[in-house]
This record gives sequence, C-alpha cells and structure tokens, in this order.
Amino acid sequence: MKIFVTRPIPEVGIKMLQAKGYEVLINEKAENRSATKDEMMVGIKGADAILSVLTDKIDAEIMEVGLPTVKIIANYAVGFDNIDLEAAKQSNLMVTNTPGVLTNTVAEHTFALMLSIAHRISEADRFSRADKYKAWGPSLLLGTDLSGKTLGVVGLGRIGTRVALHAVRGFEMKILYTDPKANPEFEKEFGAQYFERIDDMLPHCDFVSIHVPLLDSTHHLINEEKLKMMKKTAYLINTSRGQIVDEKYLAEALKNGVIRGAAIDVFEFEPEITPELKNLDNVILTPHIASATEETRNKMAEMAAQNIIEALEGRTPPNLIS
Ligand code: NAD
Repeated sequence: MKIFVTRPIPEVGIKMLQAKGYEVLINEKAENRSATKDEMMVGIKGADAILSVLTDKIDAEIMEVGLPTVKIIANYAVGFDNIDLEAAKQSNLMVTNTPGVLTNTVAEHTFALMLSIAHRISEADRFSRADKYKAWGPSLLLGTDLSGKTLGVVGLGRIGTRVALHAVRGFEMKILYTDPKANPEFEKEFGAQYFERIDDMLPHCDFVSIHVPLLDSTHHLINEEKLKMMKKTAYLINTSRGQIVDEKYLAEALKNGVIRGAAIDVFEFEPEITPELKNLDNVILTPHIASATEETRNKMAEMAAQNIIEALEGRTPPNLIS
C-alpha cells in the first residue's frame, strides 16, 4: 500500500502507517508552504490513500488522477471545506476528518484571544518593547473585563460548547447562543439562552465567538449588516474559518469604531491578510494556529493515520464524513 502525505505531519502518525508496512511518501518540499497542485497530482498517482491538510484544495481533477487506486482522503483537520465532497462521492472515495481531539486546544486559543484583546496584551507588549513605558498611569492601556459579561456563541458544536464552559466556569459570563438546533440540556446546565436568529442575539453580546463550519450558508455570515448590529463596545473572536467574516468590512468597522475590537486566527484570503488590519491596534491576528499544540497535533496525526488503516484494512474508518 502506498500513502501520499501532502505535507510533513508529526512523526507519530507516519510511524503508525509505516508499522503496517505501507510505503509512506511525504511531500517534504511543502514543510513551510502549501503543497502545489502539481505536487499533489504527482503524489496521488498510484497511491492507495492521501493524508491531506486544510491548505490542500482537493478537487475533482486531483481525485481523477488518483483513481482507481485511491480509496480514502484522510484530512488532518476537523474542517473539511478544502475537499470537494460531491466529487469524492461521485468517485466512491471515503473522506475522514479529526473531530474532538482539537476541541480543548481551539477553545483555549479562543480564550487566549478573548483575554488578549480585552486586556490589550499584544498592544501592551508592543508598547513595552518600544520603550514607551515611562510611568504607571491610572488610565494607561485600559481594557475590559470578561467576568460577568455576555458571550454570544455562534455555532454550539464541540468547540462552541467548550468555549461556553470556560466562559461560565472560569469567568461567570452569561451565555447566549445561536445554532440551527437548540440544546435545552445545555441551556439548563449553563443558564444559557437560545436565539434562532443571529440577528436577535448580536445586539446583546459583549463578545461574539464564531464556531461554525464553512458552508455556503455561513460564508460572510458576519458581514457589514451583522457587525452594525453588534454593540459599539463589543469584540468579535473568530477561530473558525476566515471566509465566514467579510474581512475587508471588518477592517473598516474596527477603524471606524463600529465594534471595539477583534481577535482572529483565520483569514478570508489566507495566507494573505487584509493589509488594513495590520495597521490597527484593536485587532489581534494569529496565523491559523488555534489547534497548534504538540499534544493536539500528535493526536490529529494518530487519528488521520488510524482512519487510513481502518479503510485500507476494509473496515469503516471511525471519522467518516462521506
Ligand atoms: P461542530 O460540527 O461540532 O460544530 C459546528 C456547529 O455549528 C454545529 O453545532 C452546527 O449545527 C453549527 N452551525 C452550522 N451552521 C450554522 C449557522 N449558520 N449558524 C449557527 N450555527 C451553525 O464543529 P467543531 O468541531 O466545533 O468545529 C467548528 C469549526 O471550527 C470547524 O468546522 C472548523 O472550520 C473550525 N476549526 C478551526 C480551527 C483553527 O485552527 N482555527 C481548528 C479546529 C476547527
């Protein structure tokens, strides 16, 4: 069996595949950049499985090259918007992801962002390094408390629920949430309030945190209209996917005081970042690292490898999407 790994991933996953006697071809050239379409076309030919990452756009053309040998595309991510699921279905290819193992880490990163923007940590760090700290001041770099504030969770799935847990247990925040499906048990446990329409929730939030998958229905879910519904004192946190927010308008909104601040891990045109954002102090930018801890990346590698092993040994992989 031959496995094509589009970019180097933690050793633990590679070793699991090698232990099965599979030939593992790693696209080493793509250590610090995305794999090119050409590299994928070459690597996939004659492979039995592909271990892909979220920067790989796996479309019908690429899948075609892999047929008839490829059986599974194991994505090293919980999101799978980089894979054309319809084309995979047409070609009878299994697609898997890595749900759950990154939930805690992404929720922690969400809180790191929320605390950092509210307490102006990045701005204060830049201020200190620039030798601007001349004296303690009663109004120097004043921020905002999280405690007792209202958090609006957009998408109450695995990560959204974990973020709500930290917010309630750690900061006694009040939770509002919107999701296609209400969760009465969650409401009872967390004293949370459900909103069927995001429009009805946004005006009440001090912080809004996005945890929806990228779908046609969530593209630009947060646009000019929605940002204008938020409080002028509110903060937007996005650790889901960049295309869910209209990034150009977000930059304008941050510049013009439509909202107070934002902290985002994902970008609409990534790896490009809307240049206006880089000049603003009321935004924190992290380069899509919400799941980037050693522990979690190792678990993701194990999970992706296990999905491949199950599929190639004729069983249903545990994290089958389609
Ligand atoms: P999940 O499937 O458990 O949760 C997604 C939730 O969003 C579900 O409850 C779903 O019902 C809800 N939803 C769908 N459409 C909605 C809409 N229009 N409005 C409100 N809610 C809606 O997924 P998860 O494991 O919690 O992950 C969420 C997303 O986070 C992933 O799809 C991925 O894109 C992103 N993610 C990003 C990183 C990162 O590195 N920044 C890491 C992991 C996950």
